[in-house]
Amino acid sequence: MRLVTYLQGDRARVGVVGADDTVSDLDDLVPGSPSDMISVIEAWLRIAPRLREAAGGAGIPLDRARLLAPIPRPRRNVLCVGWNYAEHFAEGREFRSPAGVQEIPDHPALFTKSPAAVIGPDAHVRHPGPHSGELDWEVELAVIVGRGGRDIREKGALEHVFGYTVGNDVSVRDVQRARHGGQWFKGKSFDTHCPLGPWIVTADEIPDPQVLDISSRVNGETMQSATTAQMVFPVARIIAELSAGMALEPGDVILTGTPPGVGFARKPPRFLKVGDVMEMEIGGIGVLRNAVAPYDA
Ligand code: MG
Repeated sequence: MRLVTYLQGDRARVGVVGADDTVSDLDDLVPGSPSDMISVIEAWLRIAPRLREAAGGAGIPLDRARLLAPIPRPRRNVLCVGWNYAEHFAEGREFRSPAGVQEIPDHPALFTKSPAAVIGPDAHVRHPGPHSGELDWEVELAVIVGRGGRDIREKGALEHVFGYTVGNDVSVRDVQRARHGGQWFKGKSFDTHCPLGPWIVTADEIPDPQVLDISSRVNGETMQSATTAQMVFPVARIIAELSAGMALEPGDVILTGTPPGVGFARKPPRFLKVGDVMEMEIGGIGVLRNAVAPYDA
């Protein structure tokens, strides 16, 4: 099932995308449903059985629906894994200082992005303008937590997944690497630099998240092309690591790392310019498209 957050007038609503690519309001299908995605996730065990029995609603065509990010404002920072594809780790090695991490660590590298940076499909990513010329893309499988929990074991961890969407871990490389004491947070959290969408595909439709094609294009040119089978730390392990001593909550968003082919590591480096169009694609989910707008647009 595909779930979207979309605008009805100026109000955000949760919609269900049918097989005919129309969006029906969840509240029309299951009266009394909440209108925000996090509440829907929390109430899902009650909603899902009624939704399966619901008659199709009078939907609006998907291409006319104004989609927001499926979770427009996560309750806390977006949880992120760095270097989760071995070739991406390798392509960045020469850019790390000798004192930096030179071998893939035993535990995933973790950082976060600001929830205020989240934008939806087709919204503009703002160029960092006067602050940097090093704007880069990173396609990533995004996990949406369903059932929360602390100390979740790797075995059975996928039962805590509500669904999946496509993420773009947009990065300002010089700010990320060098400007703020080695912390990645600022270089990963410029306004608009966390596109998510276009929808959540519920976990029942993706029983194995480690077999998905994952790719990115800039202005139609393929930049990244891989499969989630290449993750160093699979989704279940990431959930176990993140939840160790820190409870995950329904609606938490986890970005699971990017495959090789990002801009900074290309020869020569390739950074995004105003007007560039990024298309992030994951098989079985869809395409997340965002263009780069001027800093002061
Ligand atoms: Mg990343």
